[in-house]
Amino acid sequence: MCLISISIFVSMKGKVVKSTGKHYTIKTSDGKLIKCFLKGNFRIKDIRSTNPVVVGDNVVLKKESDRWVIVELDERKNYIIRKSVKLSKQIHVIAANIDQAILIITLKSPITSTGFIDRFLVAAKAYGVEVILCFNKLDLLDDELQVKQKSLQKMYENIGYSCISTSLIKDDISAIKSFMQGKVNIISGHSGVGKSTLINKLQSDLNLNTVEISKVHQQGQHTTTFSELYDLDFGASVIDTPGIKGFGLVEFSVNEIGNYFPEFISLKQDCKFYNCIHKDEPDCAIKFAVENNVVDKNRYKNYLSMIVSESNNFRTNKY
Ligand code: GDP
Ligand code: ZN
Repeated sequence: MCLISISIFVSMKGKVVKSTGKHYTIKTSDGKLIKCFLKGNFRIKDIRSTNPVVVGDNVVLKKESDRWVIVELDERKNYIIRKSVKLSKQIHVIAANIDQAILIITLKSPITSTGFIDRFLVAAKAYGVEVILCFNKLDLLDDELQVKQKSLQKMYENIGYSCISTSLIKDDISAIKSFMQGKVNIISGHSGVGKSTLINKLQSDLNLNTVEISKVHQQGQHTTTFSELYDLDFGASVIDTPGIKGFGLVEFSVNEIGNYFPEFISLKQDCKFYNCIHKDEPDCAIKFAVENNVVDKNRYKNYLSMIVSESNNFRTNKY
């Protein structure tokens, strides 16, 4: 009895909600926030990362003399990265254990290209992050753009993605909230699409720094920023990070990109070659499906541009 109570006292579990690089803020299961340090020799097997513990990580803490230290890291469901500066083989992990990305898309002011959307979807699939496509600024669309938006939404719904269309400045956001509930979310999209408008509507007292950061970058100033996880009142979490605009820095091998196009999956077993990349090979089921409008032509075009641009790269997702 006595032993049990001592072990509860000296170690506990929590989630990293903030990291400054020097110290971490951990939220324990009963909601307490604890400032915590990392031991100098803390390393994670198989991950060559500049920052071994990140926002979203579940950790075990121990009290050592007068301060709390992180002694263990739970296995991650996933993590998103960007390459570390300089041509080192190290990577910088942005955040871990992300369930879902809300990708905000606008067909006007600014234009979000399908190239960007498809690249984002591929990277998210590779990371194991679900994506909700949120078409915003419907109020700005003329008849022609409305038709385009509807058909784009239908196309993404047909291949299995959940979509929402809205005008964030005036519409009710309960549908978005219900998608976010119970999950750890990131909110992504180009600058100006409405990320902070959404965040303010989700919870007005949250002062996330997404927009300020991108604007500071545009002005060429340097700033050191760190990710932070916020638990929202309606039961969702949001990770705010300077890297949430897209997953643009992920690199893939040419052979795997097709695995992240869900509409290819059931078709590709009918390709003549098992390692078909659906480009120049004969008897390719994907090309046949594109010709017959079973696979969207524009998605296929974006697929081709991805395999061409990635053909000289190497995969960096697993370090
Ligand atoms: P962020 O850079 O992605 O955070 O974008 P903001 O949330 O700052 O939005 C950029 C601009 O678009 C702001 O002036 C918003 O008021 C405006 N905006 C956001 N949502 C809508 C919308 O649904 N319709 C229109 N017309 N403007 C919007
Ligand atoms: Zn093929």
